[in-house]
Amino acid sequence: MQFIETRGNDGIKPKKVSFSEAILNPSASFGGIYVPESLPSFDTLFLEKHIDSSYKELAFDILKLFKIDIDSDTIKKALDRYDEFDDSKNPVPLSKIEDDCFVMELYHGPTRAFKDMALQPFGYILSKEAQKRGENYLIMAATSGDTGPATLETFKNQDNIKVACLYPSGGTSDVQRLQMVTEEAENEKVIGVVGNFDDTQNMLKELLASEDFKEELKNRNIKLSAANSVNFGRIIFQIIYHIHGYLELVRQNEIELGEKVYLVVPSGNFGNVLGGYYAKKAGLFVEKLLVASNINNILTDLIENGEYDMASRELIKTESPAMDILKSSNVERVLFDKFGAKRTKKLMDSLNSTGKYSLTKDELKELQKDFVATYSSDSECEDEIAHYAKEGYIFDPHTATCMKSYRKREKKELKSIIYSTAEWTKFSTTVAEALGEREVKNDIEALEWITKNSSQKVPSMIEGLFKKEIKHPLVIEKEFIKEEMLKFLV
Ligand SMILES: *Cc1c(COP(=O)(O)O)cnc(C)c1O
Repeated sequence: MQFIETRGNDGIKPKKVSFSEAILNPSASFGGIYVPESLPSFDTLFLEKHIDSSYKELAFDILKLFKIDIDSDTIKKALDRYDEFDDSKNPVPLSKIEDDCFVMELYHGPTRAFKDMALQPFGYILSKEAQKRGENYLIMAATSGDTGPATLETFKNQDNIKVACLYPSGGTSDVQRLQMVTEEAENEKVIGVVGNFDDTQNMLKELLASEDFKEELKNRNIKLSAANSVNFGRIIFQIIYHIHGYLELVRQNEIELGEKVYLVVPSGNFGNVLGGYYAKKAGLFVEKLLVASNINNILTDLIENGEYDMASRELIKTESPAMDILKSSNVERVLFDKFGAKRTKKLMDSLNSTGKYSLTKDELKELQKDFVATYSSDSECEDEIAHYAKEGYIFDPHTATCMKSYRKREKKELKSIIYSTAEWTKFSTTVAEALGEREVKNDIEALEWITKNSSQKVPSMIEGLFKKEIKHPLVIEKEFIKEEMLKFLV
């Protein structure tokens, strides 16, 4: 299958590219991104055939249907990365939390956030493609806390790939920071930046756009790639678990095959829910995708009113930092899918020049065929965490927004799957606060308090972090980033 561009073609780049090309060089004409030319079909026949498939078998067949230019052996080895999850036979457990509501736990990978679901196999494939071509790639990531660790973990010690990860110093949880600064791999560099996430991300954008830096990379024979969710190589792995979740409900005798469900997704960059959208479009029986946000509720506004307006907003720091996003990159793929390249380019140009765009009434109606949206405040999320903790289940704050969104929806006959995107251990101070303990000063104290006051356990990879040696102590002002990068790239 070929991949096409969301904003049309500029006459310089190829109009269509292969999967491997789209993942190694993910930026398309006019600042657009790549999307598949068409989607395979996940209809009744496909679902029936996979009713007894393991996660890896299902994943393999889905990737095969996309006819990507990656050989079967490489795909199989990439999927073997799921063997390292807590339960290799069931890497993504689905558990019942209410009569009509199920939690899909996407956080059982090495860094305890859902980013591993895609980055683990994706990192393997990208590295192998780079090696096959004999090319060297630099992947730079600015992270608010979950992407960084997952990117470092997947690419560590892979030939032909270097990773540099920038994080806002003081802007992540202790666990997230330790996951990054204790990472030991020759090909990776972690830099703390004085400032907040926006500063860090802007700095990265400036650096990547600078002719000077591009020249330096060229001299070293290094190409730039990206591992954020604009890379379709991540999205493709985020289609699979939506289908798996549906099949799991059938297997658990909760629904009949063909019955519709709601998918409730805590959203930031829109990658997770986009995977659900593609699954729905390809035939999965989904009534609606419910987009859950925190008070940075720009997606709620888009889906309810057709207005995407960054210009009149300031980013607000919340207890669900992975959803503190105003520029939600993957919305573009839905716009393209529904309204075509010409319109998408117009809307995106408007966003770049004025900070906003508006959909027409008809376009809004079209969007609402698939999506509904709500948002929750921090205090609502804390209440949600406290409520379910009493029943023995601890949510992280991102999952809690999702749970709140599910409960805000009017009761319907249909069942809901809510997506749990992080383990509580990554956000333990917020969770401790929600449970009434406001004195804890750091993650260690919060983890201890929670394990003492509940039946929860801290997994070894989180506990072990506090004893590991710090390999990347560097914290710098942003004007020194380029200098540090050049030292790393010698
Ligand atoms: C990245 C992330 C999200 C947001 O996912 P998108 O695909 O960017 O919408 C939500 N929760 C957690 C914990 C995350 O790490």
